[in-house]
Amino acid sequence: MSELAAKLADLRTRFSTDVNAAPDEEALDGVRVAFLGRSGEVTGLRRGIGQLPPGERPGAGKEINDVVEAMEGELAIAQSRIENRVFEADLATQIDITFPAIAPVAGSLHPVRNVIRQAGAYFRRHGFAIVTGPEIEPDYYTFDALNIPSTHPAREGFDSFFITDTLLLRPHTSPMQIRTMQAHKPPVAIVAPGKCYRRDAVDARHLFQFNQIEGLLVAEGIHFGHLKGMLTGLCRELLGPDQRVRFRPSFFPFTEPSAEVDTTCPKCKGHSDACNMCGGSGWIELGGAGMVHPNVLREVGYDPDEVSGWAFGFGVERFALTRFEIDDIRRFIDSDPDFLEQLS
Ligand SMILES: [Zn+2]
Repeated sequence: MSELAAKLADLRTRFSTDVNAAPDEEALDGVRVAFLGRSGEVTGLRRGIGQLPPGERPGAGKEINDVVEAMEGELAIAQSRIENRVFEADLATQIDITFPAIAPVAGSLHPVRNVIRQAGAYFRRHGFAIVTGPEIEPDYYTFDALNIPSTHPAREGFDSFFITDTLLLRPHTSPMQIRTMQAHKPPVAIVAPGKCYRRDAVDARHLFQFNQIEGLLVAEGIHFGHLKGMLTGLCRELLGPDQRVRFRPSFFPFTEPSAEVDTTCPKCKGHSDACNMCGGSGWIELGGAGMVHPNVLREVGYDPDEVSGWAFGFGVERFALTRFEIDDIRRFIDSDPDFLEQLS
């Protein structure tokens, strides 16, 4: 090894040791100046080239340049290492690890879904099965089989979305009564929750798509008292233990006798003439009910002389409006988490 090569090897070793030991940018700069600066060690070696025989000078110059290039590379790596360390240290001072964490947002059931679940649980406890069915139905299941022939004016009351002349979005869940009775001999006890559609103009009390929950019980000896007992129990379970139920005579083609069902206004309990929820009447309308019409029983092959039954249908959103004392049904479909969270 030439004298120059030995010097360069020694210089490299000392340079590397000092670079790795430099704790910060200032120290690193000091190492750079000591070795590569104008009066540094490398400059000293370059000056020595002049003492060499002319033939060895170019080779020596290249040897020194190669080493300088390697040293500069080493410096750059050390420089970025120190910068990263500084950045991480800064970050640690900027992050307050004692600050409360951002809690993950946990969803919950929609209030309308909750009402369906709780009503379903009530009826299941009493031996009812929960059934669901298609939202597009032939008019046979929607009207004809329910004692509403095509000439019956009651069809007007179910403002419907027809897809073809005979297919429509169901305006009530009652087709499930027919489908269930056709598939099973009595006794039957079902509740059918699901979406329904009517051509209603949307306002604070109406949506063109809403949920209904429907109940049907057919067996020997079933009478109106059974219906009253079940609906009173439902209202007490979902709205409060003091709820009462009122039946007002009404007309539906598929039940006879038929009734509108009201329950005690849960807000004023019937004690305020100025109540904005019930308009001072003390009652809230829930839906319709009645004893299944003999024509409906005959249509599905049941004998009205042997079995009887009741049916009811409630709007779930209406029920939820009452339960949560909300003034506008549209709030259920606004997808506003701030509103919905209050009801979960
Ligand atoms: Zn009231």
